[in-house]
Amino acid sequence: MKKVLILGSTGSIGVNTLNVIRQFPDRFSVAALTVNTRIDLLEPQIHEFKPPVVVVKDEKLAEELRKRLKIKCDVLSGIEGLISAAANLDYDILLGAMVGFAGLAPTLEAIKRGKRIALANKETLVVGGELVTALCKKHNSEIIPVDSEHSAIYQCLVGEDVQSVSKIILTASGGPFLHLTKEELQNVTVKDALNHPTWKMGNKITIDSASMMNKGLEVIEAHWLFGLPKEKIEVVIHPQSIIHSMVEFVDGSIKAQMGLPDMKLPIQYALSYPERLESNFKKTCLPDIKTLTFYSPDFEKFECLKLAYQVLDAGGTAPCVLNAANEIAVDRFLKGKIKFSYIPNLINKTLDKIENHKSPDVETIFECDKLARDLAIQL
Ligand code: NAD
Ligand code: MG
Repeated sequence: MKKVLILGSTGSIGVNTLNVIRQFPDRFSVAALTVNTRIDLLEPQIHEFKPPVVVVKDEKLAEELRKRLKIKCDVLSGIEGLISAAANLDYDILLGAMVGFAGLAPTLEAIKRGKRIALANKETLVVGGELVTALCKKHNSEIIPVDSEHSAIYQCLVGEDVQSVSKIILTASGGPFLHLTKEELQNVTVKDALNHPTWKMGNKITIDSASMMNKGLEVIEAHWLFGLPKEKIEVVIHPQSIIHSMVEFVDGSIKAQMGLPDMKLPIQYALSYPERLESNFKKTCLPDIKTLTFYSPDFEKFECLKLAYQVLDAGGTAPCVLNAANEIAVDRFLKGKIKFSYIPNLINKTLDKIENHKSPDVETIFECDKLARDLAIQL
């Protein structure tokens, strides 16, 4: 029986993780659930999965939940609660499904205890990849990716030597704006951007998918997970989202991992690895799918993807600045305050104004994130 602590249990990945756990009651139990504000969704989760502890980041809502709950469950609150849960509770796997930079601090605590990290929160590796991978090595903590592309690559690499990889190919659906021109991108609305063609996800990652920043963040994530230089990480548009990513080896052979676009599969794999568990999720029927197509991405149209390759090259705190500015830009776009086409401009301007620090420690990363956020808000 593995005990799972879920950071972000009310989000798209969090809910899907509980869907997996529900299928295997004799394999997984819930050690703790954490949420930002959605206590209305957390309450039924507590009744069903009976975690001994939950964390609600918002203090007032945590108090409200304490009053409301009829069953025994400790309710912690604040960022301190999140960190304390990861640092002190009894669990085997931390499922990192919070969104954004906020996921870094509790994940670091789990790494320091040598826990398995089933990682959906790609921002953790984008902002702190060097530090996070070094800490994992030191504390013998393994990161098993939940992001579907990285899970695909991880699966393709089982039994292979990373030395024999000539490149990895991250597939991208291309999002809702794949066929628009750069000029047409000027006038897209929030509703258009939230209308993803193949995946149902939280708002932030859905906007990132529309701007292709999501794929840019995934290039950086792949660099740290698999130890490959940017020259060996290629992005290919594959609108059907059936091939989740590929690995090309030095002999020219390409391995692909395929399946329906359903996050339950990579979540389950990250929880059960190295075992594969039989599931009753819908399986792929290739004759129904018929055609798989591939295109090269347009870096001029999707400037965010280009920026992500640039910050990976620059290293140091540049990816942290890009991430912070992007989180602000996405938030402002969702609130109708800036146009979609302004997202890469805001990131670029923020990057221009902040000095790069090589091999940052934790304090430097937190300072840099704050500085970049404040500046992006000003800009
Ligand atoms: P979401 O917005 O649906 O859920 C986010 C969860 O995190 C919620 O439970 C929320 O309560 C919690 N949360 C948000 N901000 C918080 C904060 N400041 N403090 C504490 N808790 C907070 O997001 P999602 O789509 O589930 O994505 C989660 C992460 O997984 C993201 O990093 C995303 O990039 C990654 N990811 C998601 C998918 C997907 O299919 N949704 C696929 C691959 C990777
Ligand atoms: Mg992905």
